[in-house]
Amino acid sequence: MFCLIIVTIQKHPNLPDPYWRSVLSKVISLSISFRSHHFLCALGFEGKGYSAAFIDNFQNIVDRLRGPEGDSIEIEVVPMVDDICNVCPSRRDTLCHTQEKIDTLDQAHTQVLGLNVGDRITWGAAKRRISERVSMDVFERMCAPCSWKNLGICEKAIQTLQNQMKPQD
Ligand code: SF4
Repeated sequence: MFCLIIVTIQKHPNLPDPYWRSVLSKVISLSISFRSHHFLCALGFEGKGYSAAFIDNFQNIVDRLRGPEGDSIEIEVVPMVDDICNVCPSRRDTLCHTQEKIDTLDQAHTQVLGLNVGDRITWGAAKRRISERVSMDVFERMCAPCSWKNLGICEKAIQTLQNQMKPQD
């Protein structure tokens, strides 16, 4: 019964306020939803974003992922707006103001990371895939349309992750 209530709240299309839907899903559910390119955004997030509410929401998500139990948190791959988009000023219902660019990013990340819509993958497994599959050349291609790329934040985060996951001698 409790699970049914959670699923109803998370999926109900008529809940009017995406912010409260997002808050409710944080309070009562441990799972997170990401569109494909947001796995890499979550790895690199450093407190920058499109509005105070957006940054606050994103920070709450990455605090959970970077916490002691973060690697075991399951993330559902979704094809449209996700838990990061929910409070974004660029969100237009289930789409994004820059949907064409976002589609290009999502397609590239889906392919490189081997994701399928509906997959549930732990944050630890997602980081392993990023570490193994995203060389700097691949990063340059898969994130080419992203307006945040030139800040160098994601590049640094990928290199740090790859150093952490390097097999020890
Ligand atoms: S810019 Fe678009 S894809 Fe990015 S978080 Fe906002 S709504 Fe989502």
